[in-house]
Amino acid sequence: MQIIENYINGQLVAPRAGNYLDNVEPATGQVYSQIPNSCQQDLEFAVTAAQQAQYSWANTSLEKRAAILCRLADLIDANAEDLARAEAIDNGKPIAFARKVDIYRSSANIRFFAHAGTQFSSESHAMENIAINYTLRDPIGIVGCISPWNFPLYLFTWKIAPALATGNVVIAKPSEVTPMTAYLFSKLCIEAGLPAGVLNILHGSGASIGGPITTHPKIKAISFTGGSATGAHITQATAGMFKKLSLELGGKNPTLVFADCDFEETVKEVVRAAFSNQGQICLCGSRIYIERPIYEQFKQAFVELVEKLKIGDPLDEQTQHGALVSEAHMNKVLSYIELAKQEGGTILTGGKRHQLDGRCANGFFVEPTVIEGLTNQCRTNQEEIFGPVCSIMPFDDEQQALELANGTQYGLASSVWTNDLKRAHRVAKQIEAGIVWINCWLLRDLRTPFGGVKSSGVGREGGLEAMRFFTEPKNVCIKY
Ligand code: NAP
Repeated sequence: MQIIENYINGQLVAPRAGNYLDNVEPATGQVYSQIPNSCQQDLEFAVTAAQQAQYSWANTSLEKRAAILCRLADLIDANAEDLARAEAIDNGKPIAFARKVDIYRSSANIRFFAHAGTQFSSESHAMENIAINYTLRDPIGIVGCISPWNFPLYLFTWKIAPALATGNVVIAKPSEVTPMTAYLFSKLCIEAGLPAGVLNILHGSGASIGGPITTHPKIKAISFTGGSATGAHITQATAGMFKKLSLELGGKNPTLVFADCDFEETVKEVVRAAFSNQGQICLCGSRIYIERPIYEQFKQAFVELVEKLKIGDPLDEQTQHGALVSEAHMNKVLSYIELAKQEGGTILTGGKRHQLDGRCANGFFVEPTVIEGLTNQCRTNQEEIFGPVCSIMPFDDEQQALELANGTQYGLASSVWTNDLKRAHRVAKQIEAGIVWINCWLLRDLRTPFGGVKSSGVGREGGLEAMRFFTEPKNVCIKY
């Protein structure tokens, strides 16, 4: 059984209190490793290490910081196969997906922000014949980065990279449910020569170590990705502490399919948008609105394609649909399918736990599920399920489509499928979401702002937004 360790002050160390949690492989339901359940003592050790590293890292030249980060990205690439396998085992996602999406993006994140660090500049504002203002953008100091389980290494690096590139020292916590790649990553940090204390990785539950990180007085900013309820909890717990918060939260994203779309391409992409990563992506389109003239035809083609998704062992190269991340999460998803039935929904396909043979006989698999006949107001269409469950509904015109799309508390992402350029612009402007994809989904340029409105979050990640979040602007005004 593999024992995971914390990464503090440049070393792999056991938790001070000696407490561990079981780590389960979702595809088999078996415990296969143990992770530290870190506590306040571990946090104090990490904060001291970070304080000691803070000045020297902030004053390390941009080129040197970038070189270390690029070395780290190269090491991820060199170990991509092992990391993809580890992610598939730890999370339940298909290995082909982990390789192509998770691990590819993890090194891309680090390389992107290594370069961004060398290109980042600040503003100056001249007051004609009177004065000049220039803005210093200094690192904040010690920052906390807390990430979820759906893209374990991908979202972990998405936060850590800009924080380090801008000269901060970091205390990071991956999800207790998927700690393995963060642990392997800590070994790569040592190999890359990241100075001791610059990054500290503490494993453990949200209650035992996540909470203490968010409220520690020496940690001045928190970058959090996770559920909206946890985001609300962090906001309350840190109220009055004047910390900088970036909150990337849940979604219940609409997909709007207009009758003039490219039919076949749209069906294929809407299936991908609904079921990639077993529907466990904050950006997945789980509310699918289809213009009435093509509703029946779309429904038939959509269900046909969903039924072709190959459910299987995440380690099988052919698998397209793996296990859900945990038994508790599987039960939550199944309970929403039951709720949908009670709310009057008809299951068009799926609807059950999926049973595999052999090594995966006890795995947490749920069939890709399509439901119709629900109202927009029902809980199934209002609450984030975060699994392989989507609901399809007809609409009659653009105005109604917009009202349905905007009719939840969430506002993270959306996709619109149409060949009418004017409509695409009109709808994009009126959708309440941080991200609108037109005739595509999950096409990402790392320079663009990433995040949501309403209950989907506060602040933006990506490109300059992240560089600005992790720096403190100070204006200097010089009179001529
Ligand atoms: P979660 O339960 O909110 O947990 C997220 C992270 O916060 C985990 O590391 C968790 O630790 C930790 N945590 C839990 N309670 C905490 C507390 N009181 N204080 C500080 N940290 C705490 O979310 P999840 O179930 O892992 O992830 C799924 C959610 O993330 C979905 O809602 C999804 O939409 C959202 N998400 C959003 C984005 C985005 O960019 N907007 C991206 C991906 C996912 P433990 O795991 O150890 O409990």
